Amino acid sequence: MNIKVERERRKNFRLEHSEDGKFLARVPYNADEKEVEDFLRKHRIWIKKRNEEFMRVSEMRRDLSSKRKRNFLFMGNEYEVSVSDSTRCFDFDGIFHVSPGCVEDVVGHFKRFCRNELLQVLDRRVPYYSRKLGLEYSKYTIGSSITMWASCDKSRRLRFSWRLAMAPPEVIDYVIVHELVHTEMFLHDRTFYERVGKEIPDWKEKKMWLRKNSAKIRLMTDQKDPSNGSK
Ligand SMILES: [Zn+2]
Repeated sequence: MNIKVERERRKNFRLEHSEDGKFLARVPYNADEKEVEDFLRKHRIWIKKRNEEFMRVSEMRRDLSSKRKRNFLFMGNEYEVSVSDSTRCFDFDGIFHVSPGCVEDVVGHFKRFCRNELLQVLDRRVPYYSRKLGLEYSKYTIGSSITMWASCDKSRRLRFSWRLAMAPPEVIDYVIVHELVHTEMFLHDRTFYERVGKEIPDWKEKKMWLRKNSAKIRLMTDQKDPSNGSK
């Protein structure tokens, strides 16, 4: 690894790592070779770590800007993710923008974005369908389940996966109605789907959308870092 050494009028040694991955050691004019070597040796782990980190981020940036670039589904449409030096970390205006410094956690940012958006939909649609269908729930929350879109427990608490924000609005409506009907009946039998079908006649299509897109959604939102994987 190439580390540039710059001699200048200063008393102490200083090591810098710039955004473009270059290392610069600022050393006093009168420092001898051995002192400089010792200084760099002392910081070799820091240098190694910073360099690895830089390589990892560069690779992700390359992936994102290459043909294998990342797309995110949102409300049923696919949008590309572009790395740009905008001031904000993560933004959406018809495409998703992520700043270079936030590329690594792009799924985390997308997840928070989806949570917010989904919450706004749920705040409108859950009470609406609850009143319309005369089905009461105790509360609803947003979780991170990767295997289930939503669930309803015996205490009539509804739980929706943040990934549901990736589905079209009419599919989200179907899931809301589905879970609300569960507050009255637990099994997925004929009566259950008859009740769902009264509100959502083409529920089979919505169900099919979820089935067809679940693998893709899982792939798009795969977070390598396990500490971000749950919740
Ligand atoms: Zn169900």
